[in-house]
Amino acid sequence: MPTYRGSCHCGAVTFSLVSDIAELTTCDCSLCRQKNALMTKVHESGLTIERGEEQLSVYEWNTHRAKHFFCSRCGIYTFHRKRAAPDHFGVNVFCLEDFDPNNVPVRATEGIGMSVVDREARSQWPGPREAS
Ligand SMILES: [Zn+2]
Repeated sequence: MPTYRGSCHCGAVTFSLVSDIAELTTCDCSLCRQKNALMTKVHESGLTIERGEEQLSVYEWNTHRAKHFFCSRCGIYTFHRKRAAPDHFGVNVFCLEDFDPNNVPVRATEGIGMSVVDREARSQWPGPREAS
């Protein structure tokens, strides 16, 4: 599988993504609309923070299940732990180097009426793994 390098705008946060990117998604929930987010979905095993984990802030709202990470310095959304599939991350594809989103189909997902809940979920969903 291909490996992509990603970073926030100021470069404080860098990460790597090991994933085939076959599909991109948008979402019409109130948060994704304001971010104008274009995302790809990756299993948690495919996302590694290389640098700047301590620079990440997390935003939680609504059910507080999803974890929306962003750089505390430049404010750029990098990735979030998904609510419906909390063992997966949604990744901001505009943070990726050498990735052209124009060649990948985009699917609009419906987040505006998304309801809870996976009762089997872990009680605590941490951030992505750090490079060791
Ligand atoms: Zn930054």
